[in-house]
Amino acid sequence: MIIAVDGPSGSGKSSTARGVATRLGLRYLDTGAMYRAVTWSAVERGLDLDDTEAVAERARELRLELSTDPADQFVVADGTDVAAAIREPELSAVVSKIATNLEVRKELIRRQRAIIDAAQPTGGIVVEGRDIATVVAPQAELKVLLTADQDARMARRGAELAAGSVTAEQLRDQIVRRDADDATVSEFQVASDGAVTIDSTYLSLDEVIDAISRLAKE
Ligand code: C5P
Repeated sequence: MIIAVDGPSGSGKSSTARGVATRLGLRYLDTGAMYRAVTWSAVERGLDLDDTEAVAERARELRLELSTDPADQFVVADGTDVAAAIREPELSAVVSKIATNLEVRKELIRRQRAIIDAAQPTGGIVVEGRDIATVVAPQAELKVLLTADQDARMARRGAELAAGSVTAEQLRDQIVRRDADDATVSEFQVASDGAVTIDSTYLSLDEVIDAISRLAKE
């Protein structure tokens, strides 16, 4: 069983995908964390992020340990726990640059497919990202495109606002810019064949998890 959950930043796909995995007793893969970990490593090594070959080489060499247990998530890159570092706003601001590197994508998609295959004997996996239903796992039994309007997506990133690390205007700019950057590499705004689109703007997290879990059991 593979459940693909694709959607833009702030659509609630991480909480949703993790919740569905917990509810159905499946593994969970956050593919965004992989792009973030490569970005972290490239920045930490002081690489020129426009040097596509050097960054691709880093992606191929990076030792990445990623938990697929929805109740116990960790991301370890070359032996360093990067769970918090990969969520920093400075890193979020440059991750699209790494995600547009086609050689990086090739490497990470290869790793993602291996993780998906390894999870099959355990019952299956919920995979979240941008290109899961279209590229990584088009064979997924259930494909969900999660959307939400811009205000709802901003509200869900309210913690960053409350912490004062960004202003509302900066946050909106980030969301708009990241959507535009992401659209150049993955067709996340276009529902793939057979995908169910769920607009979560007026739904609670539980309602979205319920809806997807029901669809998975059909
Ligand atoms: O989902 P998250 O916001 O953590 O993803 C971080 C970035 O990684 C996205 O903005 C996008 O550029 C990239 N990404 C991607 N393909 C995926 C998952 C994430 O290009 N499957």
